[in-house]
Amino acid sequence: MQQTTVAAVGPYYQKFLRRWPTIQILAQASLNEIRRMWAGLGYYRRAQSLHECAKIICRDYDGHFPESETELLKLPGFGPYTAAAVSAIAFDQRANVVDGNVERVIARLFALRTPLLKAKPDIRKKAASLLPSDRFGDYAQALMDLGATICTPRNPKCGLCPWSQSCKALALGLADKLPHRAKTGAKPTRRAIAFFLTNGRGEVLLRQRPEKGLLGGMMEIPSTSWREDLMPALADASKEAPVKTQWVLLPGRIKHVFSHFELELAVAAGSIKRSLPGQWVSLSKLEKEALPSVMRKVVRHALKLV
Ligand code: SF4
Repeated sequence: MQQTTVAAVGPYYQKFLRRWPTIQILAQASLNEIRRMWAGLGYYRRAQSLHECAKIICRDYDGHFPESETELLKLPGFGPYTAAAVSAIAFDQRANVVDGNVERVIARLFALRTPLLKAKPDIRKKAASLLPSDRFGDYAQALMDLGATICTPRNPKCGLCPWSQSCKALALGLADKLPHRAKTGAKPTRRAIAFFLTNGRGEVLLRQRPEKGLLGGMMEIPSTSWREDLMPALADASKEAPVKTQWVLLPGRIKHVFSHFELELAVAAGSIKRSLPGQWVSLSKLEKEALPSVMRKVVRHALKLV
């Protein structure tokens, strides 16, 4: 659930449980089907980690998750936060669960003025010093909820906060000024031209992205490489097109924001009569493909205009 919302994930969660009700069934699923079901959620590496993790749990742990943070940390997809959260919430183990919400609460409670990035180790220590002696799962959830609903980034509702008596930021009038965040520079923009190629059978050409790297293993509309440069001219870009044909640049651009850059895509449309080898998918079945959101935008844009 990190970097996303309950509202976005809820329907996927239901769909996943219906399709793969046990970890054994999930472990036997095909990775491409998992990716198709994941499409639109972002953070695609997580789909692969989920699958790898299911296989390891079945193979090495007899189908049961280990309960300790240390053991959980060895599994694919588990970082410090996830390991602590699962250990505390699922197994009621003593674990220091620190997510973005908790960081904010702790930074305020102790009036930590160091910029957040630098303050993280100190925040973890301070958070650990507050751990209760039982009900670790309830405590972890209560603290995260306090951050999500009361100690909010803007306009914290200190009047409703159970910790208002001991909160240093509140006493110093700094509640909504902490934690300090170092200013981040603007994200760079990468640009590319995507090639929307159809054939006489109402199919569109897709390709699978390399397993490693951004959107690893997901499907995409073929494009030029994504580079930090001006938008390439179609005449140059068509050297990177999947086939030589009459490409037509469609009006408009697609913008998509990734965590560390923005992507601007122009779309060129082309068609061929014969079918070439490649992953051709019927336009009516595109919905079911493992297309990430940015590629769904390309498809929608192209279909409006061709
Ligand atoms: S008193 Fe206000 S600033 Fe302090 S922890 Fe509570 S909500 Fe956050």
